[in-house]
Amino acid sequence: MHDVIISGAGPSGSQCAEVLAKAGFKVALLEKNTNWRKPCGGAIHSSVLDLYPQLTKLNIPKISGVIMHSADYHKLEFKGAGDEYSIIMDRLELDNILREAAVDAGAELFDRNLSFDFLFKNQKKIGVKTKTPAGIKEYYGKIFVVADGMSSKLAFKSGIRSKWKIDELAIGKCAILEGDNELNEEYVYVFFKPYQGYGWIFPISKKRFNIGVFTFGEDNIRYNIHEIYQEFLDNPNINKYLPDSNYKNIWTSSYSFPAKGVLEKSLYDDNLMIIGDAGGFVSPISGEGIQTAVFSGRIAAETAIGALQQEDYSKNYLKIYRANLEIKKIIRNFKLKRSMIKFFYENNGKNLNKMLILSKKDSEFREKVVNMFSFGEIPSKDFITKINDE
Ligand SMILES: Cc1cc2nc3c(=O)[nH]c(=O)nc-3n(C[C@H](O)[C@H](O)[C@H](O)COP(=O)(O)OP(=O)(O)OC[C@H]3O[C@@H](n4cnc5c(N)ncnc54)[C@H](O)[C@@H]3O)c2cc1C
Repeated sequence: MHDVIISGAGPSGSQCAEVLAKAGFKVALLEKNTNWRKPCGGAIHSSVLDLYPQLTKLNIPKISGVIMHSADYHKLEFKGAGDEYSIIMDRLELDNILREAAVDAGAELFDRNLSFDFLFKNQKKIGVKTKTPAGIKEYYGKIFVVADGMSSKLAFKSGIRSKWKIDELAIGKCAILEGDNELNEEYVYVFFKPYQGYGWIFPISKKRFNIGVFTFGEDNIRYNIHEIYQEFLDNPNINKYLPDSNYKNIWTSSYSFPAKGVLEKSLYDDNLMIIGDAGGFVSPISGEGIQTAVFSGRIAAETAIGALQQEDYSKNYLKIYRANLEIKKIIRNFKLKRSMIKFFYENNGKNLNKMLILSKKDSEFREKVVNMFSFGEIPSKDFITKINDE
């Protein structure tokens, strides 16, 4: 019997497990496969490093700049806000460090356990069933946290959420490649597309980089991810950064993430909370979700601690997870980003093309564009009129 059963030992589940275990609670962290390398760009915001000083000790180069390209390859180069930065990591390494932190704090990690359903007694959730190489296992607990990402079976089995529809997702394909390149290690390279999505090159080290592309919304149906990924690799505008003809492929994979923002009506129920990708905590347009996965994991853990102390695991108590100010801020921020999608991508990305052309001519306008990308500032009417008039 555990106090909390967490399904999924990715960034959200591991953070949740660590906070609960540090507070002295008995935590089971169920993971389908610790050797799985989550398909991801691996860009991690500096705020995550505040929670994991062990990542800072790895001395990974800090990335503070962005080289952005519009669909017709106009370019805008800028440095990020204040002392914020990102690091790029191989997800296999990141996830194992975060899991280790949870285990060191006292959480019990059960690897090769694929959770597929709840156990019920008198219509109340009392446990989780998993498939393991040795057969079906059962884990009993007081509170259940669903942290098993996009492919979660429990989120659906909980009855508070339906299955994803294809246009609610983003579909991405990425690789880690190695070889001589013309990339500046202090920058990430972003290439907006005429369709909903973008391509990226994120330097991991001098020779290694993560490269990928994704589509989202209705464009998941219009475009084939494998074809556009190949087109991206073959594109002369990309090749100028990657002049080698034969990069060593360390790993390639494809996967999806939720693209419509937080599922705010489906985050909690009686003795249940949903965190990270399973709850839609991925930033629309940019696809960043590691930071918000970790934050949602921490806040769910803090909520569970209060519930365990008061022995109240009801939906009525757990609603404070959704009502948390940081969660509210994430939901609001994602809604603003979603409201900008049409503007970004209408007329095959022409607004973005014009925006980058104008940025070159007008330094005041450039500053507004940078603020929009760095601080999520919403463009004013004047700003939009200027683009329309260009
Ligand atoms: C192509 C792509 C590129 C991305 N690039 C970035 C980026 O550069 N920066 C960024 O911040 N975000 C990025 N994201 C988003 C980021 O990967 C996720 O938001 C983040 O990993 C979410 O963390 P999580 O813990 O909620 O879920 P996950 O990282 O998906 O972890 C879920 C865990 O649960 C396990 N699991 C799954 N099913 C089960 C089951 N049934 N039973 C037990 N365990 C299970 C999995 O093995 C995994 O360990 C990208 C996503 C994609 C698809």
